[in-house]
Amino acid sequence: MTAILGISAPQQALAAKPSLAGLGRAGLKAALASIGVPDKQLNMRVGQLWSWIYARGATSFDQMSNVSKDVRAQLRAAFTLERPQIVTEQVSTDGTRKWLLRLPRRGREARAPEIETVYIPEADRGTLCISSQIGCTLTCSFCHTGTQKLVRNLQPEEIVGQILLARDRIGDWPGAAGPGDGGLIPDESKAHASGMTRKITNVVLMGMGEPLYNFDNVRDAMAVAADGDGLALSKRRITLSTSGVVPEIARWGAEAGTMLAISLHAVRDELRDKLVPINRKYPIAELMAACRTYPGLSNARRITFEYVMLKDVNDSLADAKALVRLLAGIPAKINLIPFNPWPGTAHECSDWEQIERFAEVVNRAGYASPVRTPRGRDIMAACGQLKSESLKLRASERNIA
Ligand code: SAH
Ligand code: SF4
Repeated sequence: MTAILGISAPQQALAAKPSLAGLGRAGLKAALASIGVPDKQLNMRVGQLWSWIYARGATSFDQMSNVSKDVRAQLRAAFTLERPQIVTEQVSTDGTRKWLLRLPRRGREARAPEIETVYIPEADRGTLCISSQIGCTLTCSFCHTGTQKLVRNLQPEEIVGQILLARDRIGDWPGAAGPGDGGLIPDESKAHASGMTRKITNVVLMGMGEPLYNFDNVRDAMAVAADGDGLALSKRRITLSTSGVVPEIARWGAEAGTMLAISLHAVRDELRDKLVPINRKYPIAELMAACRTYPGLSNARRITFEYVMLKDVNDSLADAKALVRLLAGIPAKINLIPFNPWPGTAHECSDWEQIERFAEVVNRAGYASPVRTPRGRDIMAACGQLKSESLKLRASERNIA
């Protein structure tokens, strides 16, 4: 089953009032102060809003029964709790869900920008893959997003908004019902057997964009996601994936402290320069040095190295052996990702037998189950297939708004 759900017109109307959904505590405090909530009540009111928005998933101020009627009316008059608007929702045959989301325009943007968010249910976990930028400044040769110019960075609330929206749609709030359209979310019986009570257990910053090029906003958003009084995602279940922005890696560890994934894809500079062009600026040796000193690194908190399998490009057994040598001494997991094709790409996915031979070398070196099963390929939701139609507008077009 592949379903595309059309979304009704009213949802697409542009929000005139700002939404509080996705804001951090400072943002909520400023919003409350702006509608005249007295200083000495601010912290208490922020705590109430926080719990309603992030622990219970409130979508209306009327639900907030412990907030006084007057304050609720003031909030309703000035703000909304709207999430990013859904343009389409697609459900893959394997239960993967992809949303094309429209964000409110900022500044002089003539068109509302669009991003993609993907939910991947498995027996014992549910992973939400979120975007950090609209487009990407980098141009990795195998990545569809890399063919889309950077439109802009996402704001913290737009990053958190993707989590709220996904939890709404799959019914991942206390007492909420699932979407009822037959998708696996994840297989309930297995989930219960493993003691899993939530549908989104993991968040990966592996959607559109290079998260370390939007450092502050992504860090602030992950602080909201990890807050124990709200969304309460453990930092050990949040993974930032980077193409290798070396100078920001240690700072990310210190300031955000999530798990880390490195898009390695090649073990020789001469090849990595071509596949992941940021390598020309920060070559492999520097990247490995940053990994070795990543704060909190241990056998219980390993770095994931992602390696996309490209036919006749990086998939030789000599490359597999060199990969194992390169990672020696770093607490690591290896993820071999079968290349996901997209229209116009020059690359091909390695043959399955070659992936198995490559994986065997990696296995023998002690890395367990290194091949990642492609998910949601039929709806272009798999790694590296995300791209929205949002274009960076020429200055003349931007000024129309
Ligand atoms: N910009 C960040 C995060 C987004 S990409 C980064 O590059 O790490 C998420 C992962 O998907 C990266 O490992 C990326 O290299 C991989 N990827 C990109 N295009 C792909 C494709 N066509 N097939 C398989 N994996 C791909
Ligand atoms: Fe950007 Fe990551 Fe794609 Fe490279 S792989 S173009 S860094 S999104």
